[in-house]
Amino acid sequence: MNIQELHTVFLKYPSVSTDTRNINKGDIFFALKGENFNGNTYAKKALEQGASYAIVDEEEFIQNDRTILVDDCLTTLQQLANYHRKFCSAKIISLTGSNGKTTTKELINAVLSSTYKTVATKGNLNNHIGVPLTLLSITPDTEFAIVEMGANHLEEIAFLCYIAQPDFGYITNFGKAHLEGFGGVDGVIKGKSELYEYLIKQDKSIFLNADDPIQLNKLKSYTRKYGFSTENSSYYKIEFLGAQPFVRLKFDDTEATSNLIGSYNFHNCCAAVIMGKYFNVDVPKIKQSIENYTPKNNRSQIIENLDHYIILDAYNANPTSMKAALENFNTLDRVNKITILGDMFELGNSAEEEHQTVVQITEQMNFDQVMFVGENFYRTKTALKKFKNFDKLKQYLTEHSVPKKSTILIKGSRGMALERVLDHI
Ligand code: ATP
Ligand code: MG
Repeated sequence: MNIQELHTVFLKYPSVSTDTRNINKGDIFFALKGENFNGNTYAKKALEQGASYAIVDEEEFIQNDRTILVDDCLTTLQQLANYHRKFCSAKIISLTGSNGKTTTKELINAVLSSTYKTVATKGNLNNHIGVPLTLLSITPDTEFAIVEMGANHLEEIAFLCYIAQPDFGYITNFGKAHLEGFGGVDGVIKGKSELYEYLIKQDKSIFLNADDPIQLNKLKSYTRKYGFSTENSSYYKIEFLGAQPFVRLKFDDTEATSNLIGSYNFHNCCAAVIMGKYFNVDVPKIKQSIENYTPKNNRSQIIENLDHYIILDAYNANPTSMKAALENFNTLDRVNKITILGDMFELGNSAEEEHQTVVQITEQMNFDQVMFVGENFYRTKTALKKFKNFDKLKQYLTEHSVPKKSTILIKGSRGMALERVLDHI
C-alpha cells in the first residue's frame, strides 16, 4: 500500500496510536520498535482492542486483512504525517530552543485557542515520533497547529521541519542543554538554527525575541520577522514588571500577572503575546489566557502548605535553567531560604566544569542552607553540603528536619526525580 492509499484509510479512521495501553476504538495502530520492545508483537492485541488497522513491518505478524505490511513502521508514520500536512489548511507554528519549549507551546496554545481552533503537541511529544503524531491530529477545521520540536543532536530539527513544513517559527533560547549530543554550545546554536534555515529558505515568517542578541544577529538581514523587546523600539514593546514570585508583564497598556515563577518565564509569555497580537487575538483575551495558564508536571510549580513555601522545578535542569532558577530564587524576598539541587545530565565533557560553576554561583548567594545531590555535584570542590545520592540526602533530611516556614527551591534533571524530596521535608 502506498502513502496515498494509506492516507485514504487514515481519512476514514483519522486517529493513530502507537501504544496498546491507551488505544481507542478505530485508531490505526503503528507497530513501532524501541530499544526494549517490538511493537509488532502487540499488533494482534491492538486489533482485539478495537484498532481499525495495524501497521506492521514484520511479515510473521500479519493477522488478517486489517493488518498492513510496510517496510518500516516509523518511516511510514513520518511519511503519512508529511503527506497529511500537505492537505492541511491549518497554519503550522514550530517551536524549538534549549529551555521553555513546552511552557511556551502551552502559553501560545492558550492564547490562540481563545479565538481559533487549535491543536498542539501533547505533553512533551516533541521528537521524530511526537511531531508526526501532532501533525496527524490536525483535522480539516483546525486553524493553527503548535508543534514543539526537541533535539539532542544536529540535523534533528532540519528533519522535523522537513516533515512538518512549518509556516511560522520561534526559538525560545540558545542555552546549555544536551551539550553532549550537540558537541558544545556552538553546536546547540547551529542545531536550533536549523529551524531558521528552513523558514528562511521557504520565505516563511519568524517570531523573535529581540532582547536575545544571538537571535537578533542571526536574523539581522531577514525581513519576515516579528519581534518583541523590552527596550528595542523597532519591535513590539513588552514590559517586564517583575517576578515576586509570579511573572508580571505589560503590553498595549494592559498588565497581566501569570501563574509562572522565574523571570525566565517572562520571555515565554512574550512569545505567546506577540503571536496573539500578530494573529489578531483581542488584547483582553491574550491577558486572560496568560493569567489562566498554570504549569503542570513539576515545571516550576509553587507548593504552598502549612509547613513550607516550595518551588518545585524537578522536571529538568541544565546549566542555563539552573542559573536562571538560582538567580530568580536569590531575588525572592523571603526568609529561611534553602536550595536542594540535583545533578544535571547529558553534559558530556563539560559536566565537571558546569557543576562546579553552579556550585560557585550558589556559594556567592548566601542562602540559609544548600544541599547538592548526585554524583556530579558530589565530585565538586565545595564546603557546602553534598550527598552522593538521593538515599544519603533522604537520611540527612530524616535526621535534620528543615525549619518550619522555609522557602525551598528544588531543582535537578528528570533522572534525579527530586520531587521525591517532598516526602522528606
Ligand atoms: P524539554 O527539553 O524537556 O522538552 P522544554 O524546553 O520543553 O524542555 P519546559 O518544559 O517548558 O522546557 O521547561 C522546563 C524547565 O526549563 C522549567 O521548569 C524551567 O526551569 C526552565 N525554563 C523554562 N523556560 C526557560 C527559559 N526561557 N530560560 C531558561 N530556563 C527556562
Ligand atoms: Mg518540552
